[in-house]
Amino acid sequence: MIPAEAWVAAYAEPNAPFELHRFPIREPRPGEVLVKVRMCTICRSDIHSYLGHRPNPVPGVLGHEIIGHVAALGEGVRRDMRGDPLREGDRITWSEYFIPGDDYCTEVLDLPQKSPGVDKYGHMAATTEPHHHGGFGQFCYILPKSWILRLPNDLSDEEATPVNCGVATMVCITEQAEVGLGDAVVVQGLGLLGLYGAAIAKARGARLVVGIDGVAARRALGLRFGCDRVLDPTEMDEAAMVEAVKAECRPGGADAVIEVCGDPRAIPVGLQMARSGGRYVLGGVVNPGSTVTIDANQIVRKLITLRGVHNYHPRHLLEALDFVAGNRQRFPFKELVDGRYGLDQVGQAMRDAADRKVLRAAIVP
Ligand SMILES: [Zn+2]
Repeated sequence: MIPAEAWVAAYAEPNAPFELHRFPIREPRPGEVLVKVRMCTICRSDIHSYLGHRPNPVPGVLGHEIIGHVAALGEGVRRDMRGDPLREGDRITWSEYFIPGDDYCTEVLDLPQKSPGVDKYGHMAATTEPHHHGGFGQFCYILPKSWILRLPNDLSDEEATPVNCGVATMVCITEQAEVGLGDAVVVQGLGLLGLYGAAIAKARGARLVVGIDGVAARRALGLRFGCDRVLDPTEMDEAAMVEAVKAECRPGGADAVIEVCGDPRAIPVGLQMARSGGRYVLGGVVNPGSTVTIDANQIVRKLITLRGVHNYHPRHLLEALDFVAGNRQRFPFKELVDGRYGLDQVGQAMRDAADRKVLRAAIVP
């Protein structure tokens, strides 16, 4: 049953408390789906927006790692992106972004995730119609030109919710790093992205994954998510770190290095860890002003392929869901979501997530 109004938790300006607001609910328009939100996990980018590290419209409704049940299907929406039928009540995930129209980026470059006008769930002002377009609310409209996937019944909410951001992003990053059979891979940063990245690298056939993080608990988790070795950057200087990586990744260094720590200072040392002809993919430095000085001569002399990844292609969402569904016995994905909060506790959840008291906080409206 669809109510006339529903609650949304919004903040008026960065660092201001979250307050509950009621906004009207209408029937979904053609191409839309109305979803009753079941769980929304707090992504690091939600925290950056809330703390004012990057611009975000206010009053803001955050939350883009969302799963929910179909409450009503708009005209023309009958199947998910795999072709399976969609019905009311189905538990679904969907792309973290939608694109308003076809254009050069989508049709020619095959980069729908970078189309002009692309917008994301949990990135719009609460005053913008249809108001319910973030995960920190009871309902969310999936807008036209999004990609929807029905979730397998045996997948838990905790396993399913990060699929449309954290997992899909790492599927894209490991693809762009060309991680393949027998590769030695370095992952800089073992937050949620790095942990998924280590696991996906293993699933892609890496012979060795070296994880780097200054937090002991994350290094311990890394060993359960596919890392063969973990290193503590607070315990050694840069030269020692490079030596340690090269000792593991014989003979010349890592085939692929992945940056998901968000600290630009990790980039010069990451470059040194790659072998000649190696790949280096940056995925964590998402804030403007991530300035760093590198010796560009290293890129030339070592024939390094350097790439950036932001958002992901729709195919990565499908691959992400199938990766989690197919590897849930191998890696303890459900342990990554380790805090549950109600819609009236979003502020506390954000604080705990920002203070890293929890790895992934979940809002359960
Ligand atoms: Zn995210």
